[in-house]
Amino acid sequence: MATKKAASEPKKSAQQGELQTPKGMRDITGAEFYRLQGFFEKAQEVAVYYGFDPIKMPHLEDTRVFEKGLGTGTDALDKEMYSLKTKGGDHLALRPEGTAPVMRAYLENGMRNMPQPVSLYYSGSFFRHDKPQRGRYREFHQFGLEVIGTEKSIADALIIQTFVKILEEAGCPSVVVDINSIGDKDSRSSYIKALTVYYRKHINQLPVIDRERLKTNPLRILDSKEAKTIEINEEAPDSISFLTPSAKKHFKEVLEYLDEAGIIYRINKNLVRGLDYYSHTVFEIIEVSDNPETNGLALGGGGRYDGLAKMLGSKKDIPAVGAALGADRIIEAPWCKDLSPRIMEAPKFYLIQLGFEAKIKTLAILEILRKAKCPVYQSLSKDKLGSQLAAAEKMNVPYVIIFGQREAMDKTVIIRNMQDRSQDSVKIVDLLTYIKKLK
Ligand code: AMP
Repeated sequence: MATKKAASEPKKSAQQGELQTPKGMRDITGAEFYRLQGFFEKAQEVAVYYGFDPIKMPHLEDTRVFEKGLGTGTDALDKEMYSLKTKGGDHLALRPEGTAPVMRAYLENGMRNMPQPVSLYYSGSFFRHDKPQRGRYREFHQFGLEVIGTEKSIADALIIQTFVKILEEAGCPSVVVDINSIGDKDSRSSYIKALTVYYRKHINQLPVIDRERLKTNPLRILDSKEAKTIEINEEAPDSISFLTPSAKKHFKEVLEYLDEAGIIYRINKNLVRGLDYYSHTVFEIIEVSDNPETNGLALGGGGRYDGLAKMLGSKKDIPAVGAALGADRIIEAPWCKDLSPRIMEAPKFYLIQLGFEAKIKTLAILEILRKAKCPVYQSLSKDKLGSQLAAAEKMNVPYVIIFGQREAMDKTVIIRNMQDRSQDSVKIVDLLTYIKKLK
C-alpha cells in the first residue's frame, strides 16, 4: 500500500547493537501521529452526532473474554492472540479485537439497567500475532462502534452508515459494503451442517489446513486463502438459503435501510467472518478506487452478535451489533485527508531565545503563549540567531518571537513579521493582548 510519509518523520535508522520495536509494531510520531489523532477525532465527532458514547477498555483482558466469544478454530484466537500468565497466575491476553471486551464491560458495569440500547464507541491499539505485511501490523489501531441491547435491524444499518460517513469525511473516494447473513442460531446450525456435508464430499481436494478447519470450524473454510479451496467455495452452499423466516426478514430490512441511504452493497455469500459470536448480519467495508494498490482493501468490518452475552456468562441473551474500522489503513491511504486534531493548530510562532538570561525566562513566556492558545515551535538547543531564524523560515511560520539578553532585562520581546520583515518590541505584560490581536 502506498504510504504517506511527511518530511518531518524520521527514517528508520537504528544502528547495529541498538534495540528496536518488536516485529510488526512501530513508533508513531510527528505528522503520522497527528493524522491518526485527527482521524480518531473526526470519527468520534461523527459517532457522537449519531448518538454514541465513549468507552475505554483495558488493553489486557482475562483470556476467557476472547476464548469464550471468538471460539476455537479461529486464527484470531488460536494463532494470533498474545497471551501471558502474570506473576500472580492470572491468564491475560492483549486484546485482538474490541467487541468481546465491550460486551464484557457492558455486563460488568450494569449497563443492562440503563435505557436500551447502549451505543458505544472506542478507539485504540489492538494486537494480533499475524504475519506483518503492507497494511497489516501486529499492533494496529481501530475505531469501533457497538450498539448493545436491541435486535432491531436499524442498529445494523446505523453502524454501517456511520462508518461510511466517517470514511467519506476522511476523504475515501468510494466504498462498497460486502454483506451477508448467517442468521440466528437455527439458521447457523443448519447451514454449518450443510457446509460440512459439502466439504466432506470434496475432502480429497481440500488442503490440509482446511481439512483441519472442517473439524474445528467449517465456516472458516469459506474465507480460506488456499487456491484450491477458493475454487471449491464457489459452489459451496450459501447461508442465505438456510435463513429462518425471521432471520430473512431481519436481513431484508437491513438491505432496505442501506438502499434508502444510498449505500452501495453487494451480497457476498462467502463472507461469514468465522468468529463464533457472529449471527445475522456480517459485513466488511471495502475501498473502491482507481488505485490498484488499495482498491478492494477491507477498511472495516463487523456484524451482529446476539449470542455473545451468554457466551460471556450472561443468563440472558442480549442482542447487539458492532464493527471496527482499521485506522492504520485509512491514514496510510493516498486519499486520506490531513485531518488535523482539534488541539493542533499549526504553530504561527517560532520562539527564539538567545543566551542564558533569556532562556531562564523562556518557560514563563511559553506559559503566556499557551494561555493565548498559541502553540509554538522553538529550538531549545540552538543558540545563534541566524540558525534559529533559518529554522523558522524553513517551517514557514508567519511570526518569530525573539527573546535575547537585552529583552530579558527590559522585560520585552521582539515580534518579527516574517513576511514583511517588520518588527515590534512588546512588553511581556502586554504580550497576551498583542498576540490575541495578531490572531
Ligand atoms: P477485522 O475485525 O479483523 O475485520 O478488522 C477490522 C478492520 O481492522 C479491518 O478491515 C482492517 O482494516 C483492520 N485490521 C485488522 N487487522 C489488522 C492488522 N493486523 N493491521 C492493520 N489493520 C488491521
